[in-house]
Amino acid sequence: MHDAHYHYSKEINALQNEYGISGICNVANEKEYELIHHKHLFYSCGVHPWNASLDTLESMLPLLEKAPIIGEIGMDSVWCDVDLAVQKEVFEKQLQLARALNKPVILHTKGQEKMILELIRKYPNTYVVHWYGCMDYVKEYDEVVSYFTIGPSIGKEEEVTRLVEQVSIDKLLMESDGIEAVKWAIDSDDYIAALQNEIVQVAKLKDKSYFEVERVLDQNFLKLIKSSSFANGW
Ligand SMILES: [Zn+2]
Repeated sequence: MHDAHYHYSKEINALQNEYGISGICNVANEKEYELIHHKHLFYSCGVHPWNASLDTLESMLPLLEKAPIIGEIGMDSVWCDVDLAVQKEVFEKQLQLARALNKPVILHTKGQEKMILELIRKYPNTYVVHWYGCMDYVKEYDEVVSYFTIGPSIGKEEEVTRLVEQVSIDKLLMESDGIEAVKWAIDSDDYIAALQNEIVQVAKLKDKSYFEVERVLDQNFLKLIKSSSFANGW
């Protein structure tokens, strides 16, 4: 198993070590960077739309330049009230940087699916859409992006289930989005159960065995990691 997008917590770190789970830890500030550096974790780094400002972007630039993957970045008009014009400017600058430095990007798209689609079409790159939760534009995204993570709410949130139905298994990755998200998604803080549930649900939707699904998803993840680490000398 793997976890293509999570926010650090001690319990996740311990379980990943115990179960041999590799992942991409999200870094959104200097403090989080120190932590992943200290623990030698593979990571992505980006200015999250909830914290979008030009000052934050400027202070994060040295970290963005070092990171093997840029993200999570994007726009959000549902869970935050940060000015959308500021969000867009900060997002687009990071898209430009990622493309110039040849780094894959993890996208946060909540409520701004249409705008983000327009923006990423301008900057062809390797895109990972994280926990897509919208009934619309799935086909359009599928034409532009390389991977979609499976939201841990699969089986409960219809948007997530529908996405997995429509997208090829070769483009799917597992994710937890961190322990708080797991609690929200499966009404329990069982990190391992949340990841296993994703495999179970994909197996059901794609009519494949649990082990076949786990093998293909892990293979997709390895492909992403290899492309980002080679390109960025990580
Ligand atoms: Zn996240």
